[in-house]
Amino acid sequence: MAQEVQLALQLQRMDRQLAQLEAEIRGLPKKIAELEKQLESHERRLEADRAALASNQTEIRRLSGANADFVEKIAKLKKQVMQATTQEQLTAFQHEIAFCETETTKNEASSMRLLEEGETLAATVKQAEVALAEERVAVEKRKEEAKALSEVDRKKGVKIYRERQQLGKEVPPKLLEAYERLRRKHKDGIVVAECTEAMCSACMMNIRPALMQQIRQYPDKLFNCESCLRMLSYNPPVSA
Ligand SMILES: [Zn+2]
Repeated sequence: MAQEVQLALQLQRMDRQLAQLEAEIRGLPKKIAELEKQLESHERRLEADRAALASNQTEIRRLSGANADFVEKIAKLKKQVMQATTQEQLTAFQHEIAFCETETTKNEASSMRLLEEGETLAATVKQAEVALAEERVAVEKRKEEAKALSEVDRKKGVKIYRERQQLGKEVPPKLLEAYERLRRKHKDGIVVAECTEAMCSACMMNIRPALMQQIRQYPDKLFNCESCLRMLSYNPPVSA
């Protein structure tokens, strides 16, 4: 393979590593933000469950207070029944007693249902509290890991960057210029494309037979794809 192509390939490898590290470093805060968002939504759900539990308990207290009032009222009505002087009065008191008793029974049934619901809610809240505590620890740990990883990536990046600078000085200026021009043109970072089967592996265009012939004949010369202008690297197939 041409010396120039080899140098260009080295530059390309470093540049792609740098781009990858950069993307990783930039991607980390986004990942952390996603985890924090998830944590917040779990916190909100727990708050909602807590609020439901509180209103459940309030309602149970309200029903129990109402029933205490009914008990008092029934006792009072029963005394009034004794003092009734007409059948009309008697019927009215008895109706009222029956009404209070029906309401008491209804309230008791509601209380039972609410108690059961409350038990489920309390269990849910307790479970969510445990899960949330674990999740908070896990998110903190991930944050620390991300920080450490981005520090490692940054150091790796600095090292590659320095090597890249050094290599840039060693590469013939004309080649470096051509490389940089192609790198700006092709955002995928592929400056050197492999040509196999008479095709440019980057733009997928066929290479003219006459050019292919030259590539085969002069392995030390630098050729470019006539379509995308990338430098071509040629690895002749090894025959068994
Ligand atoms: Zn091409």
